[in-house]
Amino acid sequence: MLKKIDLPYPVNALEPYYSKETLMLHYDVLYTGYVDNTNKTQEKLDKARESNNFENIKCLEKDLSFFGSGAILHELFFENLGPAIPTSPDIKLMEQINKDFGSYDKFKEQFTSSAKVVEASGWNLLVWVPNFKKLEILQCEKHQNLTLWGCEPLLVLDMWEHSYYLQYKTKRDEYIKAFWNIVNWNVVNKRFSKI
Ligand code: MN
Repeated sequence: MLKKIDLPYPVNALEPYYSKETLMLHYDVLYTGYVDNTNKTQEKLDKARESNNFENIKCLEKDLSFFGSGAILHELFFENLGPAIPTSPDIKLMEQINKDFGSYDKFKEQFTSSAKVVEASGWNLLVWVPNFKKLEILQCEKHQNLTLWGCEPLLVLDMWEHSYYLQYKTKRDEYIKAFWNIVNWNVVNKRFSKI
């Protein structure tokens, strides 16, 4: 069961930059909704497994991504805000910022430019991409796109047509059935052991 994080500061601590009213509405109503609905969705998934009824699985997986990513991103957002006391990247992070963006000012310029043009509802993020070993700035439209931010991929199945069409044509279920015969669980175990 996902629990709401406590705000790490009083509700008026971000004023005048972020008003108490704005923060209360954002935290109490919006964020709470995402957390509650993530839990409700997980309960529905428990029931689906218990009753072996996966009729609504597409809808449930979508809800899990939407509500779960909303909960996680708000958690990260509230936690990376704080009272207006000057702080800065530490030596390690600053070195990486300088390496990947050229300078702190360039990073700030790219982050600001990118945030300005996030389409409609969305987020702007500084992220570490383990596979690139590099910091990047990402926009995220809506906040889910059927993922949960911060998740560690353990077992991956390519469902793009290029991955199976030549051999299985439209028989996706046969491709998926075949996949279970060629999974290397040793690798999955190793990935999981690093968590
Ligand atoms: Mn929000």
